[in-house]
Formats: sequence, C-alpha cells, structure tokens
Amino acid sequence: MTANSLQELYVEQLQDLYSAEQQIIKALPKMIEAAQSEELRNALNEHLEVTQTQAGRIETIFEELGENAEGEKCKGMEGVLKEGSDLLKEAGEPVRDAAIIAAAQRVEHYEMAGYGTARTYATLLGHDEAANLLEQTLEEEKEADQTLSGLAEELNVEALEAGGKGGGKAEQGTSRNERAKKSGTRSKRAA
Ligand code: FE
Ligand code: ZN
Ligand code: FE
Repeated sequence: MTANSLQELYVEQLQDLYSAEQQIIKALPKMIEAAQSEELRNALNEHLEVTQTQAGRIETIFEELGENAEGEKCKGMEGVLKEGSDLLKEAGEPVRDAAIIAAAQRVEHYEMAGYGTARTYATLLGHDEAANLLEQTLEEEKEADQTLSGLAEELNVEALEAGGKGGGKAEQGTSRNERAKKSGTRSKRAA
C-alpha cells in the first residue's frame, strides 16, 4: 500500500501494530511455559490478558475509521519474536529467565515506539478518542517494561550466580553453590 497522507500512514501503522499484537498473543504462551520464576510467569500471564485488550482497542479504532485492521504484517515484530524464541532455545536453565526478560523487553520497546508514533498521528489528525486509547496502551507497555526491569534485578543476579564462568554454558556436574563461588569474582553486569 502506498501512503500519501498522514491519515493513510496512520492506518498503515495501526495495521502494523495490530499484526504485532496478534503475533505477541501467539508467542507469549511459549515464553510463559518456559519461565521458571512464578513471578515472571504471572507477569507475562497478566501481560497476555492486557495484550488481548490492546488488540481489541485497535479493532475499536478501525471500526470508527471504517477500515480493515488486517493488511500489514509486522515484519519487525516477527523478527523480534523469532530472535526471542531462538534465544530461548539456546539459553540453558540457569539463564533462561534472564533470556526471557531480555526478549520480552525488546518486544515492549518495539511496541512503545509504534504506539508513541500512532498516538501522535491520532492527535494531529483530530482522532481524540483513538489518541486516548493508544495512550492507554502506550502506558501499559511502559508498565510492562518496568515490571520486567524489576524482575530482572532479581533474576539476572540469579543467572549470574548460577551460570558458572564465561563460556556461556553452565558447567555440568558442578553444584550451584560452587558455581556461585567461582563466579564471585566476576564483575557485576548491569540489568
Ligand atoms: Fe501490546
Ligand atoms: Zn512493524
Ligand atoms: Fe506489550
């Protein structure tokens, strides 16, 4: 589709966001299943419900516009989610929750960029109700990101202590405590 007006670009961006939310709804259950921390599972579960509401908001906006919500495939989110699922496959148990958080925060930031833009277009185009709905979603994405940052404070440290030295893979046959001792000299990595 060629967009020659801000209104058309707005519709294109909304379709892209709708596609992104649909993809997230499909991907989140796999992340929830892989998560070991109950707190992380709960946070992702809650965000899955929120995500369904967010997709519904975009549908509401499209009903008002009299346009079809389907039409764009968000290739960016497809890539972000593919990278996330690849990361989960590669991440051993000691670092799996940290990897889930890393992947999920990329998702949230990508969404924040899209919703900020769409909200601004809606305001400029005089779609005040839509601007409101998009702002609500933007705030929810920011909250989800902050919740993940909070969980990372604990779970990244657990990954640091459990993951053994350097090379990536956990040392087989070494107890968690021994590994924690060995890694004690490593400098702390930021969340
Ligand atoms: Fe979302
Ligand atoms: Zn996209
Ligand atoms: Fe989100």
